[in-house]
Amino acid sequence: MRRRLRSRRPRIKPSAFPRLQLERLSPRLSHWLLILPSLAAAVFALAFVIFLVQNVQNDRDRETSQLNEDLQWLKQALRFQVASDQRDLETLSTVLTTQGIGSADFIGRSLSLMQNNPEVLGLEYVDAHGQTRWRAPSTVRSDIISTKHPALRAAREQAIRNNETVLTQLMTDERGNSQIAIVAPVKLAQGERRCLVAWISLRSLLQLRTPWWINQRYEIGLLEADGKPIVARFERTQKTVFTRSVPLELAPPDLLLAASPNPENDRGWESALTVSLALLAVLMIASTWALRLHIKGRQAAEARLRQETAMRRAIEDSLVTGIRAMDLTGVTLYVNRAFSEMVGWSAEELQDGIPPHPYWPPEEQGRCQTVHDAILTGQFDTNGFQMKLMRKNGERFDVRIYVAPLVDGDGKHTGWISSVYDITELQHEREALQAAHERFVTVLNGLDSGVCVSHADSGEVLLSNAHFDRAFGLPEQRGPCCVAPFFPRHATLPIDAEWFDVYRNRWYYIQNRRSVWVDGTVVWLDTATDITARRDAAERERLQNEQLQQTARLVSMGEMASSLAHELNQPLAAIASYASGCRNLLAQDRPDLHQLDQAMEKMSGQAKRAGQIIRGIREFVQRQAPHRSLCHIGELFDTVEELLKAELQMNRIRLTIEQETELPPLFADAVMLEQVIFNLMRNAVEAMLSTPADRRTLQVRLSRDHDQLRVVIADRGTGIVPEQLEQLFKPFYTTKETGMGMGLNICRSIIEHHQGRLWVEPNPGGGSRFIFTVPFCEEAPNHES
Ligand code: ADP
Repeated sequence: MRRRLRSRRPRIKPSAFPRLQLERLSPRLSHWLLILPSLAAAVFALAFVIFLVQNVQNDRDRETSQLNEDLQWLKQALRFQVASDQRDLETLSTVLTTQGIGSADFIGRSLSLMQNNPEVLGLEYVDAHGQTRWRAPSTVRSDIISTKHPALRAAREQAIRNNETVLTQLMTDERGNSQIAIVAPVKLAQGERRCLVAWISLRSLLQLRTPWWINQRYEIGLLEADGKPIVARFERTQKTVFTRSVPLELAPPDLLLAASPNPENDRGWESALTVSLALLAVLMIASTWALRLHIKGRQAAEARLRQETAMRRAIEDSLVTGIRAMDLTGVTLYVNRAFSEMVGWSAEELQDGIPPHPYWPPEEQGRCQTVHDAILTGQFDTNGFQMKLMRKNGERFDVRIYVAPLVDGDGKHTGWISSVYDITELQHEREALQAAHERFVTVLNGLDSGVCVSHADSGEVLLSNAHFDRAFGLPEQRGPCCVAPFFPRHATLPIDAEWFDVYRNRWYYIQNRRSVWVDGTVVWLDTATDITARRDAAERERLQNEQLQQTARLVSMGEMASSLAHELNQPLAAIASYASGCRNLLAQDRPDLHQLDQAMEKMSGQAKRAGQIIRGIREFVQRQAPHRSLCHIGELFDTVEELLKAELQMNRIRLTIEQETELPPLFADAVMLEQVIFNLMRNAVEAMLSTPADRRTLQVRLSRDHDQLRVVIADRGTGIVPEQLEQLFKPFYTTKETGMGMGLNICRSIIEHHQGRLWVEPNPGGGSRFIFTVPFCEEAPNHES
């Protein structure tokens, strides 16, 4: 036995991964869960933008305050520089006054002033008229504004007059150079007043005295009081709009120191970041939205898949066919519920199994392995093959297996799938069917009747039993051309008739029906019962009966002789008395002819009646074959009543005849029926001879029972014990000393001959009642028989 191997493929149980199953949540909740990422992204973007705006605002505030501080600082620096220049010039003025213009100290100090203060463009020693007396060697005449400039002249006069150092107003030459000048008074010994003038370039002052870190942060410029730009830190920013300015407070020039944040330091990165973040947020929202759409689509697809899977599972579970799939190496991949129930092992037990499988019966291992190998090599019978398998409880069962290739979604052949049908039941059914068929054939062939089924159109015999084949000489091996044209057929009407086969000289009772055959075609179903023997017997019986009736009539005639004599006596006695009456009338002188005529007429009537009685008796005795005609039951009773009148009166029996109105006529032999009625009423009369006179009643009731006449003749006589009920109708059964015992037997024959029935039953209240039925004749008969 080969060891059963288990595949090492890891099997992942879905339940091992807890996950949020959106499909189990309510639609509203899952909708919100899907929107949530987009919403979160939007909220995040909004918060970030608010944060950014807030941050920018804070930065701006901080920058503004920093700008104010820096402007104040620069203002102080510039003022300090100008003040420093001013002090240097005042010192130089003092040296000039004390040591003279040619002194080394003055020259040294003047050179030092020019070199240490680059914003000082020039240094001149001018008299009260503005004439230059001395000029520092580095002064370029063309760079400085003329001493004739009104601002300079005014400053010079003020300095000389007030003996104080004065700053000029802003001076601008035609080239756009903006300068101010410091004018320091020089008091000579002779009392003459002169001045030392130092020109300061505002551009140089600004460019040289603004520290690098301020330059880096701001655009710096000097403005006039009305905001008109005088000079800026850099030429290229001449058009800069300054955001902040402070008065420089260099009296008298009324200047403003202005600044604006350096555009190079502009926080472009902030807006770029904002835009990037906005874009990012939009992208996030768009991507989450796209993700949402994707998830929704995926959910719909999953729902469809789930439904499809559920439906497939339901279909698979509802199948009674076992399904088993295996891969190309023969490892079981899948078995359905039906297969697992069929063999008794659970799907988990069978999964991943390899041969020999547990449901292979040990004695069939070899064959099972051969079939298995044949499947793996693709050499199997595509029309299926039969095998024997084993259930877990050891029971063997037959299956039929059909195999097909297992192909995956990419069209790749990945294994084999088998449909397994448990055919045990089928085989049992087949055997049962076969047995039933054999029983059917046995019964069919054992029938005395011939049975045949033939095609309604072609007449081809589809089925017949042995009796039929024998009777009509059909060969045992019939071909489809063999037809059964034996019987008369109508298009639709079923036939129930006796049929004489002239070729074989035999009588058959034929029953012929149209029916639908097992394949749905219309067929004739014929049964032919050979009734030749029965008919012969019936004929013999009929002849015997006729003979018997003849005898019975003769007997009845004897029985009736006395009453007949009595009956004839009456008309004859009447005739005799009428005759003697007539004679008496004729003996009179004037005979009453009218009375005579009446007497003669009555005499004639009585004679006719006597003749009738005699004629009736003769007919009754002589005739053998029934003579049918239309007759009314009431009239028949009238006749019999007439015959029995005397007897009834003599025995003081009351006769009542009740009749339903409107009873249809009968088509019958009136004399025979009269004989029946006569016999039954005679018997009733005789049965009541010992009955007390007051109870002697003979009741006749004529009624309709569907299409039959029902006649009840009830008496209060001796009655009949139950054991005798059927004995009475047998021939020669009698309880009377002089009886023949043939009356009731003949009556029953006559009634049955008229397709009716005669029977007796106890009469409630005492006595017995004889009942017979005869069919009415509702339609006019077209012939008499
Ligand atoms: P028979 O009258 O010659 O005896 P039937 O065949 O007429 O022959 O009657 C057979 C017997 O049936 C009678 O002997 C009698 O015993 C019995 N039977 C007939 N009719 C009646 C009746 N109405 N009541 C009681 N018994 C009857």
